Amino acid sequence: MAEETEITARFAREELQAGWNERGSPARHFARLLLGAKTDLGCVRENNEDKFEFYIPSDARVLAWRGIALAVSDGMGGHAAGQIASELALKTFIESYYGALTAPVEMALRDAVAAANQAVHTAASVAGREGMGCTLTAAAVRGNELFVAHVGDSRLYLLRDGQLRQLTDDHSWVGEQVRRGALTEEEAELSPFRNVITRAIGTAPSVEPDILREELQTGDTLLLCSDGLSGVVRSEQIEAVLNESGPSEACAQLIRMALDAGGPDNVTVLVARVESIEPLPDEALEDSEDASGALEDASTKPLAKDEPEAPKRRRGLLGSLLHRD
Ligand code: MN
Repeated sequence: MAEETEITARFAREELQAGWNERGSPARHFARLLLGAKTDLGCVRENNEDKFEFYIPSDARVLAWRGIALAVSDGMGGHAAGQIASELALKTFIESYYGALTAPVEMALRDAVAAANQAVHTAASVAGREGMGCTLTAAAVRGNELFVAHVGDSRLYLLRDGQLRQLTDDHSWVGEQVRRGALTEEEAELSPFRNVITRAIGTAPSVEPDILREELQTGDTLLLCSDGLSGVVRSEQIEAVLNESGPSEACAQLIRMALDAGGPDNVTVLVARVESIEPLPDEALEDSEDASGALEDASTKPLAKDEPEAPKRRRGLLGSLLHRD
C-alpha cells in the first residue's frame, strides 16, 4: 500500500478547515456507471450487519456538484446494534453529503462522515448497545474525479488496465502492523487479531476519516467491499473476476467465492464500472445563487435504493445513467 500513496492525495484537516465557508465548483462532466451490488449473510452469522448504499442524482446540477455516491458499511456491536449502526451511518452520510450542495467535495465528505459518526455515537449511548459502531467506505464519483472517505477495514479497490489496486488502508491492528513492516501479509491473514479495527464510526465522539482523490478513466472498475470478502478471497482472485465479468455477474461470483471459502462473515460487494465520461449540459453549470432548487430536490427525495425513480425531466441526458445489470 505504501508505494501507492504518492498518487493518492491526502488532505490535511487544517488545509480543509481553513476554507470552511469556501464554495467548491461544479464538475463539467459526469460518469456513466454500470453498477452491481450484493450482500449476503454468509454461512455462520445469524444476521447481516453489512449494508451498501448508492445514490445517483437525477438532477444535473446535483450531479455536477456532488456526483454519484457509493458506500458500504460493516456494523459491529452484535445483533440489532450492528445493523442499526451500518444503516444509520449510510443514511446519515448520504443525506449530509447531498445536503451541502456547493461545499467543496472533500469538506462535504468530511462533514458527512462527522454527521454519521455523531448519529451512531448518539444511538450507541442506549443501554445494551455497548461497542456499537461500523466501518464506512464511501466513494463520490464526480465526472472523472473519484473521492473516497474511509474509516475502518472495509475496502475500496480500483481495477485499471487489468490491474487491481487497493486504494484504502485498513484501519485494523494487523493492517497497521503490515504497513509498519512488523507483520507480513501472510502473517496478518492468520493473526488472531485480524478482526480488531483501530478506527470506526460511532465508537468515539469524533473520528478522522482518510480522504483520497484519484482521477478516473473510462473502463475503470471500482470495488467496495466488506472484510467478509477481502478476509477470505485473495486479491488475485478478485482481480480475475473483475476482469472477466460485468458488475452484476462479478458481484454474484465474488459472493459465491466468499461462501465457498466458508463464509465466516457477512459479505458485501458493490462494483461500479465507468462506461463513459460525458459533458454535462450548461444548465448543470449555472451559477445559480446556491443551486437551492437542486438542493431541495436532493434532500427531500427518498434515498432508498428500491424507490422508483422520480419522473425523468432530463431523460435524454440522464435516463440511462445507471444500469443495474
Ligand atoms: Mn465484517
